[in-house]
Amino acid sequence: MIIQLTKGISEQEINAIHEKLAAINHKGTEVKTQIGHYIIGIGKGEFDIRNLGNTSGISDIHMVSDDYKLVSKKWKVNPTVIDLGDGVTIADGGLALMAGPCSIESEEQIKKVIDHLVANGVKIMRGGVFKPRSSPYSFRGMGIDGLKMWYELARAAGIKIVTEVMQVSQIEEMYDYVDIYQVGARNTQNFNLLDELGKIDKAVMIKRGISGTVEELLYSAEYVFSGGNEKLILCERGIRTYERASRNTLDLNAVPILKAKSHLPVVVDPSHGIGIRQYVPAMALAAVMSGADGIIFETHEIPEKAFSDGQQTLNFEESSKLIKQLNQTFELRNSF
Ligand code: PEP
Ligand code: MN
Repeated sequence: MIIQLTKGISEQEINAIHEKLAAINHKGTEVKTQIGHYIIGIGKGEFDIRNLGNTSGISDIHMVSDDYKLVSKKWKVNPTVIDLGDGVTIADGGLALMAGPCSIESEEQIKKVIDHLVANGVKIMRGGVFKPRSSPYSFRGMGIDGLKMWYELARAAGIKIVTEVMQVSQIEEMYDYVDIYQVGARNTQNFNLLDELGKIDKAVMIKRGISGTVEELLYSAEYVFSGGNEKLILCERGIRTYERASRNTLDLNAVPILKAKSHLPVVVDPSHGIGIRQYVPAMALAAVMSGADGIIFETHEIPEKAFSDGQQTLNFEESSKLIKQLNQTFELRNSF
């Protein structure tokens, strides 16, 4: 169960709730986020909710049968909207577009991508400065200096930044320069990282694990939320299956399922999802029709020269065409 607490609840009142929970064999965990204050009660067995209902300091009690609680739609029917400031939002009724290279490579490259995004009305730029690579000999990113340079250029153009954080020690050094921390597919179940991201007040986008289930993605989000951060976005980026014809299998089934199970926004990454440039647009459009709140895709001026993931990266012409089609498809979806 989720017990919503009143603002300014006293320590005494909190203790009294814990005692009442203990009396019905429930363990209470206190969660304080930027937005709310809760006690999550976990336990087995029947009890009469009236035992708790008239306790002072409680504003509401929600019985949530899902094993994850705070990210469940069973207690919060209204969708979570992510507000990045300056009118840039995710899941407030529009389609959020995030585009940019796999890796941040140079000042010149950043400028070119920013010009491309501005010309096409895209407000959020993706890019990696810390790159998780399968081989240690591949390009591993420009690091924090690359992020600082990117930040200056992006801010001047009114562009927000989404970039991957790979380890706990990077959270603080990145803090002033990111709008959305991305948790990569290889880190979805790095619970230390998730715990620490719960302590900050910036948005976090969690990618689905390479072999992760929908439920595991929701549990990962629950870690961040229960750590204190409600600003969460879920990202379907394809899973590893027996199929070798594509890099991953983009599981668009997950989109309506996640939307039904959780109040959090769902973004789809067709670039990593299929991994083949010429098929990325088709999967991006399909993702919009599946109900996604946003699309994140890779673009680069000359994909053949990209330091990473060039094979799945759109050039600017392809990207501009896709952005138009995405917006048209979103309008079509809204007309149903
Ligand atoms: C990326 O976004 O470039 C990336 C490495 O993604 P993923 O974690 O989904 O593989
Ligand atoms: Mn990539």
